[in-house]
Amino acid sequence: MTAGGHDVIIVGAGPAGIFTALELVRRKSGLKVLILEKGHGLQKRLCPSQKADSSCRHCQPCSVVSGWGGAGAFSDGKLTLSPEVGGWLSEYIPEREVTELINYVDSVYRYFGAPEKVYGAADDERILDIQRQAVLADLKLIPAPIRHLGTGRTQAVLQAMKDYLEEHGVEIRVDTPVREILVKDGVVQGVITGGGEELPARFVVVAPGRDGADWLRQVAGKLNLKLAVNPVDIGVRVEVPAAVMEHLTSVIYESKFIFYSRKFDDRVRTFCMNPYGEVVLENNEGVVTVNGHSYADKRTENTNFALLVSKTFTEPFKEPIAYGRYIAQLANLLGGGVLVQRLGDLISGRRTTRERLSKGLVRPTLEEATPGDLSLVFPYRHLTAIVEMLQAMDKIAPGVYSRHTLLYGVEVKFYSSRLELSPELETQIKNLYGAGDGAGVTRGLAQASAAGVIAARGIMRKAVA
Ligand SMILES: Cc1cc2nc3c(=O)[nH]c(=O)nc-3n(C[C@H](O)[C@H](O)[C@H](O)COP(=O)(O)OP(=O)(O)OC[C@H]3O[C@@H](n4cnc5c(N)ncnc54)[C@H](O)[C@@H]3O)c2cc1C
Repeated sequence: MTAGGHDVIIVGAGPAGIFTALELVRRKSGLKVLILEKGHGLQKRLCPSQKADSSCRHCQPCSVVSGWGGAGAFSDGKLTLSPEVGGWLSEYIPEREVTELINYVDSVYRYFGAPEKVYGAADDERILDIQRQAVLADLKLIPAPIRHLGTGRTQAVLQAMKDYLEEHGVEIRVDTPVREILVKDGVVQGVITGGGEELPARFVVVAPGRDGADWLRQVAGKLNLKLAVNPVDIGVRVEVPAAVMEHLTSVIYESKFIFYSRKFDDRVRTFCMNPYGEVVLENNEGVVTVNGHSYADKRTENTNFALLVSKTFTEPFKEPIAYGRYIAQLANLLGGGVLVQRLGDLISGRRTTRERLSKGLVRPTLEEATPGDLSLVFPYRHLTAIVEMLQAMDKIAPGVYSRHTLLYGVEVKFYSSRLELSPELETQIKNLYGAGDGAGVTRGLAQASAAGVIAARGIMRKAVA
């Protein structure tokens, strides 16, 4: 251990950070572990905008994405059990090993209270049938089994993990941002907190999530760490009556469809489908975007899902996050937050007003959204891709391309610039590891958790060497 310090400091208490610590404890590494989290503890993670009639107050840190449990704490905890979804770990280790790791983290979630039921087992005849229908509609269905925790239960699982870690001697400090990573002669030495406290450690794992991606990019710049540019996914959250998707969601729970737009050949995908769920706001460092939830114990009459258009930029532009933020800011500028538009109004070239919205068949679950015109926000190629995909989806779920369908904008997935990492997720700086969404290697709970396990195993291998 570093004199007076810890063996391992983990920056960020999202799934990646938590699973790093869990693996170190469960494998009886004997290492002294400290987790530093800039957000609040679970009980203090309260979002004022979730109270009725309250808009986003741009809290820093934002309790929706920061605090114990990370961005996952207030998600409805859909563990996607497929190496094809939720990250790029198979670019670091063989896909077979990613599958094994995903199964392993799934068993850990179950140990801490996740329910046994899994939706969408790949050999289900009904799924094969949907796959056939999808092909005819020019869509590709990725069968991905999902374990659904549900928003309330996700928090219970995260609390159980915290209790377990503390019982096993892991020190956890919330409300403690890390400002700097200390490095000497190419070897990590520890961290400096926002309050200026210097904390030495032999190993550091940075797992700051999407919310901490900008910070990590700055750190990487100072430490001369190489970064690759990831794509940026921009789109809308679609809300339809739950009955429209019922024949899909009752079988697959979350249908993951991929479509290539006819006009621009851009990749469009469905993401985060929430049967009987609710559309919610998300604050991305001052920019208000949209997302979706479904709850274990309450239901709305609607289903929502995102349609995201992926765009990778080439030379000389290297700022996909800035581009995504810019588009989302346009919606914020026009609507004071998130905009909502009926598909029929978008196609007819007119804005949605409160009056038109009230005449629609779909009652918006996100009441704070401002009725407006998304064509003033999205680039032509994005809007074209979204409309084309809605038309394709209408062939397998008639009613999706209805004039009453609601589109909320903007939903953006800011995939962080990707750190150059070894197969054990070690950076070019010795003993400094990067894991999870912040390091740009994952974009979902299961793979972020698996990334934490990879980093922990790498550390243990070195610690005993
Ligand atoms: C509303 C919502 C719903 C979602 N639903 C799902 C879902 O159903 N299924 C799914 O697979 N994925 C879902 N996701 C994505 C999923 O939550 C993330 O992929 C996952 O949480 C990433 O884990 P992570 O540990 O890498 O980062 P995060 O969970 O983002 O955690 C990172 C933590 O690091 C902290 N941090 C950042 N910078 C610092 C710093 N400098 N010092 C100290 N701490 C810092 C942050 O406060 C944060 O708590 C959802 C995300 C959101 C926002």
